[in-house]
Amino acid sequence: MGEEEIPDIDLKKTVEEGKKEVMDLRMKEIEKNLKKIKHKIVIISGKGGVGKTTVAVNLAMSLASIGLRVGIIDVDITGPNVIKMLGVNPEMKPRVDVEVKKFYPVNGPLNVKVVSMAFLTDSTDSPVIWRGPMKMGAVRQFLGDVFWGELDYLICDLPPGTSDETLDILQLIPDENVIVVSTPQEVAVMDARKTIKMAMIMKRKILGIIENMSGFKCPHCEKYIDLYPPGGVEKASRDYNVELLGKIPFETEVSQQGDRGLPFVLKFPDSESTKAFKAVVNKIQKLLGK
Ligand SMILES: [Zn+2]
Repeated sequence: MGEEEIPDIDLKKTVEEGKKEVMDLRMKEIEKNLKKIKHKIVIISGKGGVGKTTVAVNLAMSLASIGLRVGIIDVDITGPNVIKMLGVNPEMKPRVDVEVKKFYPVNGPLNVKVVSMAFLTDSTDSPVIWRGPMKMGAVRQFLGDVFWGELDYLICDLPPGTSDETLDILQLIPDENVIVVSTPQEVAVMDARKTIKMAMIMKRKILGIIENMSGFKCPHCEKYIDLYPPGGVEKASRDYNVELLGKIPFETEVSQQGDRGLPFVLKFPDSESTKAFKAVVNKIQKLLGK
């Protein structure tokens, strides 16, 4: 018996190619599944705590309030707060079609379709501790295995920062439009600039920046006070030539609503913050077409 012939293959290369093949296949599935969604908007921020999720939720509600069909997907695995802010019961479990292994989103206020990592955990109080590959698997499922149906807008709330995870998710969503959220705080603007640069390097389409906590409305005299030196977000938008979509003020009563389970654009329709969101929606519709 002669010695067994070992084929001359580069195993590492083969594994990499295999991974790429699976990824391409998955991306094709995702693209097909999201085909009936007119506009995909991804909300990112450089830094945590700038109100990214608040912006995502209230933007979704503002779009839905003018009769548009909207979905929202919570892929901020660091803190899936979307359903809490929408007032959706975390006990609600998405309906699964076992035959085709796909599931239906849960209906939120104004019929907004919601899918969240929080549905996969037992309680909203326990932070989601997932291993990287598991997280990515769940995100891919949210995009590829959910019956979204026909939508005008799908809003995706991404984790903050420029981690590999965020980059991976950004890469998964076809023809997405990126919105960067920042407060006027210097460190937030600095991180937002990094995020814009990252999105540009990845050749993603940046729709614009939203300045959140843009001035504080004094509850006593109703005058606006700058919480941080103003102008940083505007400068970033000029430097990178991206649209400043709007400035959302900080109003105590309105902002406190965030944790109470009804998005403020519904609870305070006449507030300055709601008006600011309406202006943002107008700008988005102009940029993307009605
Ligand atoms: Zn005052």
